[in-house]
Amino acid sequence: MQIAFDNSYARMPDRLYRQARPAMAPEPKLIRVNRQLADQLGLDLTGLSDDELAAMFAGNRLPEGAAPIAMAYAGHQFGHFNPQLGDGRAILVGEVVDRAGNRRDIQLKGAGETAFSRNGDGKAALGPVLREYIVSEAMAALGIPTTRALAAVLTGEPVVRETMLPGAVFTRVAASHIRIGTFQYFAARGDNDAVKALADHAIARHYPELSGRDDRYLQFVRQVATRQAQLIARWMSVGFIHGVMNTDNMTISGETIDFGPCAFLDAYDPKKVFSSIDQRGRYAYSNQPAIGQWNLARLGEALLPLIHADQDKAVEAANALLVDYGESFQEAWMAAFRAKLGLTGEDEGDLDLVTDFLALMHGGEADFTRSFRALAKLAGGADDAVLRQEFRQADELPHWLGRWRVRLADNPRTPGERQAAMEAVNPAVIPRNHRIEEAISAATYGDFSFFDRLNEALEKPYEEPAEHEAYRRPPRPEEMVTRTFC
Ligand code: AMP
Ligand code: MG
Ligand code: MG
Repeated sequence: MQIAFDNSYARMPDRLYRQARPAMAPEPKLIRVNRQLADQLGLDLTGLSDDELAAMFAGNRLPEGAAPIAMAYAGHQFGHFNPQLGDGRAILVGEVVDRAGNRRDIQLKGAGETAFSRNGDGKAALGPVLREYIVSEAMAALGIPTTRALAAVLTGEPVVRETMLPGAVFTRVAASHIRIGTFQYFAARGDNDAVKALADHAIARHYPELSGRDDRYLQFVRQVATRQAQLIARWMSVGFIHGVMNTDNMTISGETIDFGPCAFLDAYDPKKVFSSIDQRGRYAYSNQPAIGQWNLARLGEALLPLIHADQDKAVEAANALLVDYGESFQEAWMAAFRAKLGLTGEDEGDLDLVTDFLALMHGGEADFTRSFRALAKLAGGADDAVLRQEFRQADELPHWLGRWRVRLADNPRTPGERQAAMEAVNPAVIPRNHRIEEAISAATYGDFSFFDRLNEALEKPYEEPAEHEAYRRPPRPEEMVTRTFC
């Protein structure tokens, strides 16, 4: 197979990465290939058998022109700095320029040890591979910037975790894999030349409009901050909890990356944490915007020597950006939640209207996704009971609905138009945790039909076809997932 690779990262100074070679998978078997994405990337998969695809996506037979490398990076993990992380179970195979002209990385996750594996085996178990496939594609379908899933394959080799599990390889596509932690790796070593080479590369790749500017490094941090503010606002708007917002899991492109113990809210609870490794709730739902800011402060620090020759001035400028981040987030969050409530224009009471609805959902243990979707139906004329049934306790709901209807009357849309606009931003289907677990456990026993059907149901999250009713249902008590693992 021929792919028109153009491996710009592999042309960078060689201390930014190490050569890597995927391990041979004994018996690769194709689980799923994303043909629509392959097409966007300009990859012609026609004529390749499932076995040939499996061999390629397992890393057994790399296409011509691949330059497999593991990228160096560091990172703050739960607030503690680790100077040496890097791609321990991921290999960047190469870059392609897609049909739209955008450069995209193609990376194999779980294809074996690299120079950065430390004590790990470089492998991935089937469960996390399927979770990343499902959730990253669901995020894309929701319209939220994210890395994508190109393929998942079984390796035919078990991996040892708490138990023996089927081994798998995930093929990830990203605008790039450059993270805040990539800058931190070189900053921590005092290697300013590498920080500068990396920043120039990142600017050329993601923010080319900044290239000629004298203040480009400061503006680069500003742009990353704006994209992250917008991204995290989008997460909040669909009840997404990333789970491990370490600085090595935050891209400078503004794409969501690393779907480890991530989860979506069922009942609304701002303090909700699912991740088994997040014991103090650092990455709880409502902490995400502040953690984003903390992480961006780490990016600013890593770039200080480039921002200004006078370090006091550099610190002052970087700190001002953090204030801008807060404003960008608030603006994006407010816009997202106004749209969720069907509000047009701006009114000074809007923030209270949103936060009061969230508080009612919290008190009433109401399902986040279903409540907003029900509210859209109310806007279209449905009976209040459609929303009330989502609440365990709804005494204060009628009063809030009264305020909401007064505010809605500000705009001239018809009920049908309001409902359509609200349904376009309030998904009916999200990748619910219990459905993901169900797909993973069936697959572990060799049945991929749950995985396939779940992926299909998530393709059009804003639609509500009768045959997908089961995917819109909240978990029954015995189905409830309380902990997620990576
Ligand atoms: P993550 O939790 O995916 O953000 O990974 C954190 C760090 O641990 C990264 O440097 C990974 O490459 C490394 N890592 C995680 N799992 C493995 C594994 N099975 N083998 C080698 N390295 C790993
Ligand atoms: Mg990671
Ligand atoms: Mg991970």
